[in-house]
Amino acid sequence: MSDTLYAEIDALHRAVTAIGRAEEAAAKGLGESKPPRAAGKAVAAKLPAKVEAAALERLERILDRTLPKDLRGRLAKLQKRLGARKAGKPRADLAREILELIDPLGRAGWSDELLGRSLAALPGVGPKRADGFARRGLERVSDLLFMLPIRYEDRRRVSGVGDIKVGQNATFVAEVKVVDWVSTRRGGRFGKIFQAVVGDDDAIVTLKWFRGGESIAKAVVKGRWLLISGDVRRYRFSKELIHPEVEVVPSPVDAEAGGSAGRAEPGRVVPIFPAPEGMNPRTLRGLIGQAVDAHGDLVQGHLPAWLVEERGLPSVAAALEMLHRPDAGIDVDQYEAFASPAHERLVLEELYLLELGLAMRRSQATQRPGIAIDSTRPESRTAAKALPFKLTKAQARVVGEILADLGRPHPMNRLVQGDVGSGKTAVAILAAVGVAACGGQTALMAPTELLAEQHFRTLTNMIESGGEGIPLRVGLLTASLPRAEIKRVRGLLAMGEIDFVVGTHALVAGEIEFKDLVLAIVDEQHRFGVMQRAALSAARPDGRFPHHLVMTATPIPRSLAMTLYGELDLSVIDELPPGRKPIETILLRAGEGQRVMDLISETLTRNEQVYVVYPLVEESEKMDLRSAIESSERIARAFPEHRVDLVHGRLETLERQQAMERFARGESSILVATTVIEVGVDVPGATLMVIEHAERFGLAQLHQLRGRVGRGGERGRCVLVARGSSEKSEARLRAMTKTVDGFRIADADLEIRGPGDFLGTKQSGHLPELRIADLLRDVLLVAVARNVARGEIDEDPKLSKLPATRRAVKARWGKRIDLSGVG
Ligand code: ADP
Ligand code: MG
Repeated sequence: MSDTLYAEIDALHRAVTAIGRAEEAAAKGLGESKPPRAAGKAVAAKLPAKVEAAALERLERILDRTLPKDLRGRLAKLQKRLGARKAGKPRADLAREILELIDPLGRAGWSDELLGRSLAALPGVGPKRADGFARRGLERVSDLLFMLPIRYEDRRRVSGVGDIKVGQNATFVAEVKVVDWVSTRRGGRFGKIFQAVVGDDDAIVTLKWFRGGESIAKAVVKGRWLLISGDVRRYRFSKELIHPEVEVVPSPVDAEAGGSAGRAEPGRVVPIFPAPEGMNPRTLRGLIGQAVDAHGDLVQGHLPAWLVEERGLPSVAAALEMLHRPDAGIDVDQYEAFASPAHERLVLEELYLLELGLAMRRSQATQRPGIAIDSTRPESRTAAKALPFKLTKAQARVVGEILADLGRPHPMNRLVQGDVGSGKTAVAILAAVGVAACGGQTALMAPTELLAEQHFRTLTNMIESGGEGIPLRVGLLTASLPRAEIKRVRGLLAMGEIDFVVGTHALVAGEIEFKDLVLAIVDEQHRFGVMQRAALSAARPDGRFPHHLVMTATPIPRSLAMTLYGELDLSVIDELPPGRKPIETILLRAGEGQRVMDLISETLTRNEQVYVVYPLVEESEKMDLRSAIESSERIARAFPEHRVDLVHGRLETLERQQAMERFARGESSILVATTVIEVGVDVPGATLMVIEHAERFGLAQLHQLRGRVGRGGERGRCVLVARGSSEKSEARLRAMTKTVDGFRIADADLEIRGPGDFLGTKQSGHLPELRIADLLRDVLLVAVARNVARGEIDEDPKLSKLPATRRAVKARWGKRIDLSGVG
């Protein structure tokens, strides 16, 4: 049906524009006495009365529909103006008004504008409600339309009062027997509870309202019949319902007489929405119903018609109607599982736009001008031989894939996925050597200063150990370096005196000039926003694009990787260097501190080193910092003959660096740290990792932390100390003790937490914010959407043939997935 409103308005636009122009021309013809007169008459005359009548009829038909207030206002005005014309007396002012009124409805995206308006545009939504919605992230009319019910309450079976059971949700009809206000004093505050005893022939039950009793009391009046719905609780020896939903219905006798169950329709399935705080669920349902009535028809679907037909899907407007106002025959379980055809339509619509965006970005990226290096040169191979170890097969394969990409005249877009310790650094070095051999530069961006420093050190060590074989000049650039140093490094970069620079986002802040940036590597660890990632590989001054390589240590389940990195090619280092022994993982709880101390003591006796890691969560930063400090003091007291160092994000770079270096050189035995050491730190002598408050970490993080020990050939051990935990975190921690395979851990994590929390980085712009679809639940539909989207983009890379879809993709994903270059 949504299409017909478009078709109607489109036709109306054409007809009314013709009428307006004719009126205008005729009016001009009257006012002037030169040749245009004849032309004006001609136009006016060309418009047959039948066309006009049809247009007016169409307008009336449109006005019969439920429409957004202002659209209705505009059309009603138009109707008046059209009617105000008098035959033989054309008026220029009237013509202008008619054209002005109709013009916006011919513009592309007029319906999107209506849907994109603030919720305050809806009748019944004042500033206060709009605020409440906004706090839930609901700002536009379309947000409300697409807020789907989280469950459906089955009111088809209306029980008798005698049948309702404690602990269950019940719907029943009962008569109000007694109403009462009860004064209470709870926590020193006075309050008034409104309560009602209701019942039928069989039994009675009490209803209570702690808030809002005044308005409830108007409906809940002795002798009235109510349809009541809510959770039944036990109260002493009887049952009660707190804040049930009630609706006045005719008494059974009246209903029989009138033959109607009244407006309460007890036979319904009622959609339950996540209501903002303080908003009555019924009010919310009403508002959503209104929005669906007036705006549902305005939502356009974008799926190709053949797909809709093939899968037997309803139109978007129909789907919204079905989900928001389910009819009594629905399969509630199917609806709650998001598995109805209506759900499928909306899920696919959402995924399709996302996948179109990703496919556009991919197609755009592969067509950009890049910098082809001569990848047949021998330098990379020579450098590989100069490394202190032999590349694993997986490393060699990935280096080969990268070099092949670098040899092409279009920018590479590749993701290298490799578990902690799989040797990504060596891969980066060998790629950089290939680039430097052709005179180009490589930049590696790390998410934190500590990591950048660590990378820099690792690189420097590896390169030094390779001697002549690894001819790379490296540099470090972070914001906390002394100004003069920053200036010096920037100067060297501009002159081409640095081949390989490592840094933080300082690399993309301000205008950093590279002599010849060929390869931009982002060591991601899920901390960068897509935008920052893109900034490093933005166009160079000469208009060409550097090659782009993302390295990640988090094994991402394939389903998620395909969506997160839909436009990247994938390389996987699926093999660890030989000789690593699997790490043993021990789960301890609060109160087992002595075990932890014993394990530390054992490790120190063997002359091995220990990490103790504390979480550093923003909200409780200070508290956590204090516990890290206290812990380091406690440990220092317990092991007076050992040096204990503490690193955290608040330390000066130099101090941090010194502490890290002492630990790396084995001068300190214990490093107490906040998660700033999470990844990248490489100390072969460390064999014990103690993770405090392990329940606060994600599995992927725990896995990375655990990967920090046992890197020197000795067996590593990891102690997870859980201090208070939920069912979910229990499951997570148990999964950690069962496997060391990063991919299996990632799958478990995704399953336990769901994709939204999986990366723990919603705010960093990683995971596309899906409104309805769920990457895990809808993984099969993700594949469908991707295939269809890629096919579409292969044929029409810029969606020139589908301007509305193109607009929708840009509006929804343009910022989040950087479609700026798509044009
Ligand atoms: P990642 O960054 O993937 O976690 P690194 O690049 O830091 O891993 O490498 C981890 C450790 O393994 C380093 O000490 C590195 O020197 C070593 N290493 C890398 N590749 C090999 C290899 N092929 N054989 C032996 N050791 C290796
Ligand atoms: Mg690394």
